[in-house]
Amino acid sequence: MVEVLKGQCLCGKVEFEIKGDVGAFYFCHCLQCRKTTGSAFASNLFVKPEALSWIKGEDNLTRFEDPARDFFKRFCKTCGSGVPHLNRDKTKLTVPVGSLDNQPAKTPQANIFTAETPPWLEPGLAAHRFKGFPS
Ligand SMILES: [Zn+2]
Ligand SMILES: [Zn+2]
Repeated sequence: MVEVLKGQCLCGKVEFEIKGDVGAFYFCHCLQCRKTTGSAFASNLFVKPEALSWIKGEDNLTRFEDPARDFFKRFCKTCGSGVPHLNRDKTKLTVPVGSLDNQPAKTPQANIFTAETPPWLEPGLAAHRFKGFPS
């Protein structure tokens, strides 16, 4: 199934579209994802590079490469939101699912790099849930 996914950064300066088959959908628990998201794990789709079109704001992006691991991050210079980025040999496009405005049909199929999961994730998922701030 071909789906069209639309995404943008938080400030709205950067917009993109993903068209084509969605490949893998993983929650990545690696240290690099934890640091760049500031959260327990990253939610990523992996699609073919040609699936991506920038609608606007590509000139407002910057890129970080971590030489310690084959890790990349591309983000909006204004608001810091993560957006789709290519790996080093440009064969794989990683799409941060939280940047999308409509939701992919596919649901996460695996958690990867769980050897690096922080000890507070599972207790946090089991903790009481409020629809907004605790009242
Ligand atoms: Zn932005
Ligand atoms: Zn990761």
